Amino acid sequence: AEQIATSASSYDKIEEFLSYQPTILEEELLILLEEKIIKFKPNLVAITIPFPGNLFAALRCSQYIKQHYSKIKIAFGGGYCNTELRSLTDTRIFNQIDFITLDDGESPLLRIIQFLNKEIKIDKLERTFVLENNKVVYKNALPNTIFHHKDLPAPNYKDLIQNKYLSFLDVMNPMHRLWSDGKWNKLTVSHGCYWKQCTFCDVTLDYVGNYQITTARKLVDKIKKIVAQTGTTGFHFVDEAAPPKILKALAELLIAEKIFITWWTNIRFEKTFDEELCQLLAKSGCIAVTGGLEVASDRLLKKIKKGVDIAQVAKVTHNFSKFGIMTHAYLMYGFPTQTEQETIDSLEIVRQLFENDCIQSAFWHQFTTTIHSPIGKNPSDFDIEIIGPKFEGFAQNDLYHVDKKGAEHHIYKEGLNLALHNYLNGIGFELSMQDWFNFKVPKTTHNPNYIVKQLL
Ligand code: SF4
Repeated sequence: AEQIATSASSYDKIEEFLSYQPTILEEELLILLEEKIIKFKPNLVAITIPFPGNLFAALRCSQYIKQHYSKIKIAFGGGYCNTELRSLTDTRIFNQIDFITLDDGESPLLRIIQFLNKEIKIDKLERTFVLENNKVVYKNALPNTIFHHKDLPAPNYKDLIQNKYLSFLDVMNPMHRLWSDGKWNKLTVSHGCYWKQCTFCDVTLDYVGNYQITTARKLVDKIKKIVAQTGTTGFHFVDEAAPPKILKALAELLIAEKIFITWWTNIRFEKTFDEELCQLLAKSGCIAVTGGLEVASDRLLKKIKKGVDIAQVAKVTHNFSKFGIMTHAYLMYGFPTQTEQETIDSLEIVRQLFENDCIQSAFWHQFTTTIHSPIGKNPSDFDIEIIGPKFEGFAQNDLYHVDKKGAEHHIYKEGLNLALHNYLNGIGFELSMQDWFNFKVPKTTHNPNYIVKQLL
């Protein structure tokens, strides 16, 4: 499913696969769907599609509903639609569904319900694609209805079956294990990212660029409500980058009110996270943080506009680790103009961060240009050339590029992953960079005590 929907600039392949008989797994899914339809008798089904891999299953469900319950209306929304379907012109997806909403779902969904109840005309829909006269039309009545993050109620998890989540304990990466180990109550501390500057990130889109904050009081009230509803005290704050100031206020209030929860979140490795704050966060129940180190190169961190340097990342991650907070770094290779030497030096920094117990988990991603990022918008500023894919009316997000100044990035994937796999298991620190690659690579230019010196 992921392959069919990834970089699907054309709808052709998706339509072809939808014409095949459902697989055994899909049949099981459709049996569950049928049970729900009989139980709830909906007249609107809204499906969230967070990632490309979720699209096909959502379409299978829609196809089934349209075939067997043609009166039920179907709406799609979520991260995949928000990033990939903004330029939609292909009408064929509307054979399976009726609405596609963009960005925050509250007001589009409210308007769709009002429209279906005949309370408003179709032109009053907000941020919603519909099919009109056999054309895809974007309806967006202005001004939009704004539901500010601070005014949103606690998410309602009443109908989730709490005890049926699988625990993937055999996953090797510690952070991915935490992610998949049973069920976490999901909550957002803030909407969007307070930094919104990284040049590879979707900063032009609402989910990153539209930063909205709430108060610690409101967060704690939501936490209490969710604990009472679910009976579980584990929280994953699903922020793009949780702001340190509000995390501090939240931790103080949790401690003051003796609310005992376990929580983890995504942050930026910024200097506000000093020893004192990390200790406070740990005391309030913080067990893990994830953050972007991206390319461990000060030259490239500047180009990324990450707002951190290696020395700062070393200190901050060490502060977290000192108080037992597991720290995971998102790593990147293949950033525009990144040289072979910088890739090797970046790996050496990662080695030292593991060796000095600054981070306990990490994951390499190869850089991809996305259309909504500053790099995708101005590729020549970053010395790359966009060469595809040709847009054919459906999804548009990942772009192909040529990086004439950079190394041949893809050849490092295996070696980087092999080294990381060893470091994750606390071994291989004594091996040289060359030992991870089956072709000749340069020696690192970093002093083996580079990170130790930053921690003094
Ligand atoms: S990469 Fe993270 S920190 Fe940077 S702008 Fe995006 S969400 Fe914010």
